[in-house]
Amino acid sequence: MEKLKHVISSRQFKDPGFLLSLFESAHQMERDDVFHALTDPLRGRILATLFFEPSTRTRFSFEAAMQKLGGGVLTSENAKANSSATKGETISDTVRIVSGYADAIAIRHYEQGAAEAAARISPVPIINAGDGVGEHPTQALADIYTIKKELGRLSGLRVALVGDLLNGRTIHSLLPLLCLYPGVTIDLLSPAQLRLPPLYREFLAERGVAFHEGERLEGVIEQADVAYITRVQSERFVSRQEYDAVKDVYIIDAETANRLKPEAIIMHPLPRVNEISPEVDANTRAAYFKQAKNSLYIRMALLKHLLA
Ligand code: ASP
Repeated sequence: MEKLKHVISSRQFKDPGFLLSLFESAHQMERDDVFHALTDPLRGRILATLFFEPSTRTRFSFEAAMQKLGGGVLTSENAKANSSATKGETISDTVRIVSGYADAIAIRHYEQGAAEAAARISPVPIINAGDGVGEHPTQALADIYTIKKELGRLSGLRVALVGDLLNGRTIHSLLPLLCLYPGVTIDLLSPAQLRLPPLYREFLAERGVAFHEGERLEGVIEQADVAYITRVQSERFVSRQEYDAVKDVYIIDAETANRLKPEAIIMHPLPRVNEISPEVDANTRAAYFKQAKNSLYIRMALLKHLLA
């Protein structure tokens, strides 16, 4: 696969060979980090993190990734209030200006399509770090890397995606990556009001991927190799009552976790609210903290690909 310019949607990743090389690079980064042997291929380069919505993992891991590779960071953690957006500057103008100071921009925005719009006018790479209910492609790269690391394979898996499939952008980005591997079966588990949007169901159908929709965990998670749990996205609801009606619909407690196959893994892009009880953290199936750590190395590999 040729060098990427921007990273806007996980649909850009069409070649499992490219993903494999990214995984190998991420793995090398991890080894070098552990042995304090990292070099600084991005010395003199700058990443701007322009975040119009809250974040812990994504922004910190991008910034840590850049700094571990010898680069520098310009950061706006609350760009909605602390950048000229509050004076009425458009996202296009902000990007035009920031691209004069930075060699790449990781942007998180509350509007779907914002990163794509930024990419249209930016001379430097734009990385979509989450655009409203749209996508979060670098989270999906970390997710798929975690599955490969934990289970040793990506084909022939049964993956249960659980929770807010309507608004969960990590789900929207993970699906196209799962579709790259043969024999994957997907179980979509959500309350009726939080069903996966038709666009993504059509995508699965077009790719000929086997998928089933349902509401109940019972009878499904027992079969799963991966149970990927998501938070009900409170910030996307128009009323508190609507959110309250569904917020605790799935809770993975110790008993539920133990119903999974012993070798299965439980994932979550985090932050969690009540979906996974803390008692599950000690379960050998819990992979969500490793998933968060892996995002650092996959982002290092990606930044090196884009900028070195
Ligand atoms: N951190 C992820 C995201 O920004 C998942 C979540 O917020 O629920 O999409």
